[in-house]
Formats: sequence, C-alpha cells, structure tokens
Amino acid sequence: MIIEYPAKSYERCTKKQLLTVAYALEAMRDRAVARAEKAEAAIERVRAIHTPVPVYTQMCDYSDYNCDRPHVEDRDGYEYHKDGPTEQVCAVCSENEEYSPGIIPWPCPTLEALGGDS
Ligand SMILES: [Zn+2]
Ligand SMILES: [Zn+2]
Repeated sequence: MIIEYPAKSYERCTKKQLLTVAYALEAMRDRAVARAEKAEAAIERVRAIHTPVPVYTQMCDYSDYNCDRPHVEDRDGYEYHKDGPTEQVCAVCSENEEYSPGIIPWPCPTLEALGGDS
C-alpha cells in the first residue's frame, strides 16, 4: 500500500491529515509484523526438522572374526562399531538415499542457507 503523504511537512498538517497518516502507518506496521511472524514460523519449522543425529563412523573390518564389540548395520549392510566414534549428520537431508554418499553432515546446507547459529 502506498501512503499519500501530505506535500507539506507534518508540522503544517491538519489533525485530520495526521490521523490519516498515523492510521495508515499502523495498518502497514501490522501487516509487516504479521508477514515477519509468518516467515519466522516457516524458518523455525525448517530448523525443527533438520536436526542432528549421530552416525557411527568406525567400520568393522572383520579382520577379527571374534570381534565382540557391539555393532550397528547401515542401510547398505556394513557394520559399524557402536562403541566407536560418531559424527553428527542431518536427520532429514541424510534420509535421501538417492544422494551419494547419502550422509549429509550437520549443520547441513539447508541450515547454513538459513544463516544464524544453526
Ligand atoms: Zn567389529
Ligand atoms: Zn538438513
């Protein structure tokens, strides 16, 4: 919305002109606040699903057939040591199995694009 400001300075405006401007500015402010809140809520919904999850990074090489450490199997069937080191990956981005290698470190590019201290 375009506000038609009086041509003269506010000091020389009538009360009626000033009230018109004041109400128009208030309405404009309310719309801007509502838009900002909607945008912030959308960003929060994106942040909320791009959460870090730990993945195990130490693969068992089966050189010791009696390896009795606890294992976890990834979706390709490889076994990792559950008591080994982990790294944080993005829960949502890493779900996409089409993506190679399928593991997206956290914070992911989506969070980085949102900026801030994700
Ligand atoms: Zn093992
Ligand atoms: Zn992500």
